[in-house]
Amino acid sequence: ADALTRAESLIRTVPDYPEPGVLFRDITPLLADAVALRACIDGLIAPFAGQFDVVAGIEARGFLIAGAVATVANVGLVPIRKAGKLPRPAASVSYALEYGTATIEAHDDIAQGTRVLLLDDVLATGGTLAAGHQVVAELGGVVVGTAVLMELAALGGRALVPDTHALFTV
Ligand code: IMP
Repeated sequence: ADALTRAESLIRTVPDYPEPGVLFRDITPLLADAVALRACIDGLIAPFAGQFDVVAGIEARGFLIAGAVATVANVGLVPIRKAGKLPRPAASVSYALEYGTATIEAHDDIAQGTRVLLLDDVLATGGTLAAGHQVVAELGGVVVGTAVLMELAALGGRALVPDTHALFTV
């Protein structure tokens, strides 16, 4: 718990990024700290230990989390990428952003019924993780859990992904 408190203190708040008025939560100082990083990875896994066969991480910071979780939990990893980055996407889901839309895609590298832990760094409006759920479903996987380092509660994303495990909430 001590290491998690320390990890939370390492998340840097950057005003006016990527645009004026936005408070960006920057996890890179946490990633750079061995003890904090390991505590977070263990904390993300704990509620779902033994319940998932593979992790799916959403581009780009979700990849960093998913890579570490996969290695520690001894499971494989499926990257969910922004549109146009994968050579043979089998699932593609578009979702609304504040301005415009985004599309995420994945390869069909999970067998029907595979239990998937879906990971990203931050839960904001929830659109990204909700789309991630849809991608996994299109591939025939079963999302057994969703986990993030940090939830931005004021943005209400939990309404779209209700059971998300958030290590930290602001
Ligand atoms: P959502 O779709 O609105 O929930 O936004 C979540 C996506 O935006 C995630 O993939 C995050 O990486 C990114 N994101 C939104 N706000 C922040 C932030 O303050 N720090 C880091 N990433 C953020």
